[in-house]
Amino acid sequence: MTRKNIFLIAFLIWYLPFANTIFAYGRQDTLRGSNGAGRQWWDVLLYDLDVKFDTTQRSISGTNTITFTISKAAGDSMQIDLQEPMVLDEVKFEGQNLTITKEGNVWWVIYPFNQLRVGKTQQITIRYHGKPKPAANAPWDGGFIWTKDHNGKLWASVACQGLGASVWWPCKDLQSDEPDHGMTMRYTVPSNLQCIANGRLIAKTEQGANTQWSWQVREPINTYNATFYIGDYVGWKDTVKGEKGALVLDHYVIRGNEEKARKQFAVVKDMITCFEYWMGPYPFYTDGYKLVEAPFLGMEHQSAIAYGNEYKMGYRGMDRSGTGVGKLFDYIIIHESGHEWFGNNITATDIADNWIQEGFTTYSETLFSQCMFGREKAFQFMRGEWKNIRNDRPIIGNYGVNDAGSGDKYDKGAAIVHMLRIMLNNDATFRDLLRGLNKSYYHKTVSTAELERDIINFTKLPLRPFFDQYLRTTMIPQFEWYVKDDQLFYRFTSVVPGFSLPLEIKKRKKQAKITVTGDWQSVAWKKGGYNIDISPDFLIHMKE
Ligand SMILES: [Zn+2]
Repeated sequence: MTRKNIFLIAFLIWYLPFANTIFAYGRQDTLRGSNGAGRQWWDVLLYDLDVKFDTTQRSISGTNTITFTISKAAGDSMQIDLQEPMVLDEVKFEGQNLTITKEGNVWWVIYPFNQLRVGKTQQITIRYHGKPKPAANAPWDGGFIWTKDHNGKLWASVACQGLGASVWWPCKDLQSDEPDHGMTMRYTVPSNLQCIANGRLIAKTEQGANTQWSWQVREPINTYNATFYIGDYVGWKDTVKGEKGALVLDHYVIRGNEEKARKQFAVVKDMITCFEYWMGPYPFYTDGYKLVEAPFLGMEHQSAIAYGNEYKMGYRGMDRSGTGVGKLFDYIIIHESGHEWFGNNITATDIADNWIQEGFTTYSETLFSQCMFGREKAFQFMRGEWKNIRNDRPIIGNYGVNDAGSGDKYDKGAAIVHMLRIMLNNDATFRDLLRGLNKSYYHKTVSTAELERDIINFTKLPLRPFFDQYLRTTMIPQFEWYVKDDQLFYRFTSVVPGFSLPLEIKKRKKQAKITVTGDWQSVAWKKGGYNIDISPDFLIHMKE
């Protein structure tokens, strides 16, 4: 082996922790995950979805009218996403049928859009039909869920985060473009069932043996959040006095589950109050808040949270933290509702940055625990969840290819938020940070780079290497130390250049505040001061 090769290997060893697992991505992934030529010149203002459900054939047919503005010089084709095996039948624009060509899950609509004036509002109507992919394991491996409730009645819904809304309706399936003015959903289903969806019910019309349910969302919504719940539902209303006035709470459960649901859902009021205290006003007062029983575990469907935790405490009756605290509350109600702030209000521009949604939302469980059970228990719960961190690949995924990164976006993502809080060392400031983000990114999308910049500006802390370390590598800082001649020597290994953390070290009455970097430093420390304690709220490893 030549020296050159040794350098190459040394480089690879250094580089690997930074590199994402190398996956084979193709053109379809790029089309799906990036703001490409057929997408970047138009901005969605409104989706008007009109779908008929054939519950016997498990198929759907309908139209989606997209209102959009031409935001910059247009191309001569428009990218509409609609995944196989769904079929796009026609696209109408100003009364004429446009030419369509299909490329996998993308339908190219051909027209000299570049001759239209920039800034003008336009409308196309897409007609489509098909039998949407059934979910293999909802909500993780998504698609349509067709099942029966405990009374033998049909129960159907959809979960499609990551997979994408285009698994069942034609749209611009990209997190960075939410319809500014919301979405209307008209669902036609058999009259013996109900159909619940996002936003407010604006009309219910009987059409023979079927009923059309029209729901309106007036605030921007992620395409994967647009949903339906078909079933034999029973609903009731409640209100909570929130920061922006009375917030309407609508709850819908399968007939027969009302009694246990009324008990289990009672926490919603306290939860809203707690979340508003920490993260700012509920972001969707216009569309309201709903908790809807779903035939799968859960999903943050905006203003219509999917609930499928079977009225158990914890996560399906289990405590993900192993501390006992996790069984004191219903994980799905808290986690999925926490997403209304981080995920639905503040959305990651690219799903590679979805830690913004999952990390902060996982931390909202800690905030809720603190409101209900106190700070000590909340912190125990937070640290307990760290055992689930796998460090399999960096939290941030590959950009532009619809890659959501590592599952560590949840617990390690929350650890990042927790460490920020510890470094701020002032809960009022930390609260201002969370509320400030929900205000400055109100109904917006944001990238990690933008968020990092804003957090650094707000905290005035040197956090760039901190974010690099925890978001872009799989390395956990290792604290190394020894005592010699009344000095404690310490440093971090497995850290990126410039990385540092402010730690507190303790040994009985001895105590010191140190800033640990990748270089050896020392502090006066009498001999015998072994088995030191280090602030447990930092995600680091210890090595003597
Ligand atoms: Zn989540």
